[in-house]
Amino acid sequence: MNIHEYQAKEILNAYGIPVPRGRVALTSDQVERACKEMGGRCVIKAQIYAGGRGKAGGVKLVHVPEQAQEFGKELFGKRLVTPQTGPEGLKVRRILVEEAVDIAREFYLSITLDRETSRYCLIASAEGGVDIEEVARKSPEKIHLFAIDPYTGLRPYQARKIALALGLTGSVCEDCVELILNLYRCCLEKDCQLVEINPLVVTKAGWLLAMDAKFTFDDNAVFRHREYPDMVDYSQLDPLEINAGKYDLAYIKLKGNIGCMVNGAGLAMATLDVLKEFGGEPANFLDVGGGATREKVAEAFKIILEDCDAKGVFVNIFGGIMRCDIIAQGIIEAAGEVKCILPIVVRMDGSKVEEGKKLLLDSGLNVQCADNLGDGAARIVKMLG
Ligand code: GDP
Ligand code: MN
Repeated sequence: MNIHEYQAKEILNAYGIPVPRGRVALTSDQVERACKEMGGRCVIKAQIYAGGRGKAGGVKLVHVPEQAQEFGKELFGKRLVTPQTGPEGLKVRRILVEEAVDIAREFYLSITLDRETSRYCLIASAEGGVDIEEVARKSPEKIHLFAIDPYTGLRPYQARKIALALGLTGSVCEDCVELILNLYRCCLEKDCQLVEINPLVVTKAGWLLAMDAKFTFDDNAVFRHREYPDMVDYSQLDPLEINAGKYDLAYIKLKGNIGCMVNGAGLAMATLDVLKEFGGEPANFLDVGGGATREKVAEAFKIILEDCDAKGVFVNIFGGIMRCDIIAQGIIEAAGEVKCILPIVVRMDGSKVEEGKKLLLDSGLNVQCADNLGDGAARIVKMLG
């Protein structure tokens, strides 16, 4: 689960990590007023669930309130396209207005879960800012990594080692040690998958300040934090993903033209691999989980059909707990309801498979039944070819 920069900064602030003074605006008049309040010189920042805004024109330094208002008008409602958004971009509905800061140096600092070591890993670089991806690619030695032992946690001497590696000295170095320790505490207590400050800056006046912040919470821990669900900005999510969430279905959008309905994450991965093997490109995949009911299968199928990139549907379901006739009924119900004319290939196996196949073939839908996964993948690719 993601949150906006301004929300992330509120959390950082609560953990004693300094952030610039700022306000969130929902209209360009509010942008103007906030700018006045900050004394005129401020930074206008589009709030979207993606980074790379600076280079995409979503962050601007302004000097007077009129300029702020004008830029606000330009940004609100605009779809901002950055390397992290995909070609359709994300709509700007909230703007953060912050007092402008005179930056002396920009650093990168983050803590994220490293699946290889199963530990939180602290990542720091003295070359932070908008080009961090390029630094990582071209001079990886400038990125410092530090795996945190979950038993001992992060010790002050370890945080100091990182601050020193960033080239900090004196009181700024000590401030940075405290900041790193606070960030780790925040990361643990808020169940984060990622906390990132880029850039963490030293101002010309010599203070440390988190200029940008990105948080990703672990979805599996959201139930432990009552306030998280209300923090979601649904305007930043794919409507189909929101719909899938309502029915407890895992839906992932992809780039191809074959909609995929599968049960189980492992089978989903295998299905995508085999489709690719046969030259197909999945448009999405939807995992209906273990014991789905007919209604749930129907909802899942409808979500797939609503994805306008899907020009055909591949259903790959192993009916262990699920009965194949119930799956077939769900598909027929949904396809009938939305008058689906797309080609469908169904590969299913398990309980009541013959009954399920018969229901499908008698349904009048443009459907084929496959004998196995390879056969099914080949068929749907051919039907779309
Ligand atoms: P991102 O591009 O989405 O990561 O957005 P950021 O919040 O990181 O902003 C991009 C860049 O804008 C930062 O790396 C800074 O160099 C610059 N920036 C942001 N706020 C200020 C500010 O108050 N003063 C100055 N001089 N630069 C700023
Ligand atoms: Mn940034």
